[in-house]
Amino acid sequence: MPNNPLVSDRNVEFLLYEVFDVEALCHLNAYEEHSRETFDLVLQNARKFAREVLFPTYKPMDEAPAQMVGGGIKVHPAMREVYPHLVDQGMVAATRPHEVGGQQLPHMVATVCALYGMAANLSAVSYLGLTAGAAHLIEAFGNEALKAEMMTRMYSGEWTGTMALTEPQAGSSLTDVKTRATPTERGHYLLRGNKVFISGGDHDLTENIVHLTLARIDEAPPGIKGVSLFAVPKKRLEGGKLVPNDVHCAGAFHKMGWRGIPSIALNLGENDDCQGWLVGEPHRGISYMFQMMNEARLMVGMQGIATASAAYHESLEYARTRPQGRPLTSKNPTTPQVPIIEHADVRRMLLRQKAIVEGALALGVQTARYADLAAHGATPDARRRAFLLLDMMTPIVKSFAAERGFESNALAVQIHGGYGYTSEYLPEAWLRDQKLNSLHEGTTCMHSMDLLGRKVVADQGGALRMLGEEIAAATARAASAGVDAGWGAALDRAVGTVGEVTMHLAGLGVAGQVEEMMCHSMDYLDLVSTVVVSWQWILQAAVAKEKLAESPSHASSDLYEGKICAAEYWIKTELPRVEQLAHLCRSGEGSYDRMNAAWF
Ligand SMILES: Cc1cc2nc3c(=O)[nH]c(=O)nc-3n(C[C@H](O)[C@H](O)[C@H](O)COP(=O)(O)OP(=O)(O)OC[C@H]3O[C@@H](n4cnc5c(N)ncnc54)[C@H](O)[C@@H]3O)c2cc1C
Repeated sequence: MPNNPLVSDRNVEFLLYEVFDVEALCHLNAYEEHSRETFDLVLQNARKFAREVLFPTYKPMDEAPAQMVGGGIKVHPAMREVYPHLVDQGMVAATRPHEVGGQQLPHMVATVCALYGMAANLSAVSYLGLTAGAAHLIEAFGNEALKAEMMTRMYSGEWTGTMALTEPQAGSSLTDVKTRATPTERGHYLLRGNKVFISGGDHDLTENIVHLTLARIDEAPPGIKGVSLFAVPKKRLEGGKLVPNDVHCAGAFHKMGWRGIPSIALNLGENDDCQGWLVGEPHRGISYMFQMMNEARLMVGMQGIATASAAYHESLEYARTRPQGRPLTSKNPTTPQVPIIEHADVRRMLLRQKAIVEGALALGVQTARYADLAAHGATPDARRRAFLLLDMMTPIVKSFAAERGFESNALAVQIHGGYGYTSEYLPEAWLRDQKLNSLHEGTTCMHSMDLLGRKVVADQGGALRMLGEEIAAATARAASAGVDAGWGAALDRAVGTVGEVTMHLAGLGVAGQVEEMMCHSMDYLDLVSTVVVSWQWILQAAVAKEKLAESPSHASSDLYEGKICAAEYWIKTELPRVEQLAHLCRSGEGSYDRMNAAWF
């Protein structure tokens, strides 16, 4: 639909400048060269590029996925055309320092710029998203030779990169990675193994691809502490020339979504000639990956938000223009039909989409702010606090955006009626795309266990205490801005409930009753996510109230009134679920745990 903006510019400005004050970051040394002018410039470029260049390529690429031809993958012609322009946007190294060719942009701004591209064509921007993650691993842990040979070429977009973790027997359980790495006297290792689902694992966009690969060095200890990280190029440099490195594409998966980027099976070392270079120290591969995962998972969260946002705006336009039926009170069939947005149930679905999309986006920007402060905060204490909050918030952003984003994408199909079920309209494609976000970079269940088993109990519950302080500051601000006192009180009570439930479950863990502790980890994730998104809605309502108090006939009064209404919707319809979820977590209700595999 030509009128679909994909992402609301005014909402982005509201979040960046009015709620989270991104300009305050310019007082930090790392960002002192930036100002609102530079932020607005990159945002403007990102929007224009997303809408005018990337979005028109989305449907053709969804309809004709990349193909395996003669042992290699051929991407869609539109992808080849758009790739150099994507690189020119400079987003691969946007947040990285100038020394490595980056723009040293705050994550808050870079993440929102990425959001526009993802909403326009998720697969297309993923080639570079993966490259950024892989290059950052080399920047953080690789030696100077790897940086000079591989990282620089990846940050410039000359080569791309992948994350080659998954194997047929090692998906959620990376402990079971089997790919072998045998040391040689020449310093490199010889790799042998099979990887699956490697996104961007082969293509004809660039002359080389570097796979950041998990493998086990011969004689390494079993388990997670025996897994190392290697840089394995598709072609290696010998005498200044690129020669094949015994890395083979064994086939592409036929996927329900994300069709513009191939996910392939990758065979390493079929001819015992696949050379890889160790990144960092032996046996520390998983810990390196974990250190980088906050970044990758925040980006998966943004993918979920972007996909839900594109569909929300599509359904909003549709609801404003599709005439069907008449008001309940109209008895006269000769009167014109009304646009479906006039029907209360359609507005219910749109408001739910808005509450999910804008609640999740606020949380994404908040989390990106923690990423900025964790890296560049003014004091060690500020950095530590931001790091703990970032670490705890990441599985929540990732999972909330994926799970509720899927619900929001389904509502977009529903609002389109029967047309939504056809491929002539876009919502079904975005629904297919969205499903991946609850699977890759760790399934939602893995994140629920990470949140409950590691994040909230780390540092003796330090992050959870800090979260409580942040939420209390928001409810106090809302109270003085004149937001309905009942909303803040309900949120404060819910924070208390999270604390009690966490203590109870942590106690089970300490007593060695780990299965009982984890039995309702998904409900626990839902509980904490609901509270955290309520916090974001109270905060947005507080700012909206403040702005309206400054000037009741404000030019943006529609935006502010909409924020207050969406906050009310979320607080009144979602927050009450907290009690039921808390009850489930405390009760240890165990029917599915008891359900014998033979009884199904
Ligand atoms: C399109 C696509 C792109 C991908 N891109 C990449 C990529 O670029 N690089 C890469 O390395 N990987 C990639 N992956 C792989 C992805 O990360 C894995 O699919 C994911 O980690 C899940 O692993 P699995 O598919 O083996 O599922 P499994 O691990 O077999 O899980 C199946 C189900 O069992 C559940 N489960 C598993 N273990 C447990 C447990 N201990 N407790 C409770 N429940 C459990 C899971 O939650 C899930 O519901 C991609 C996957 C897809 C589909």
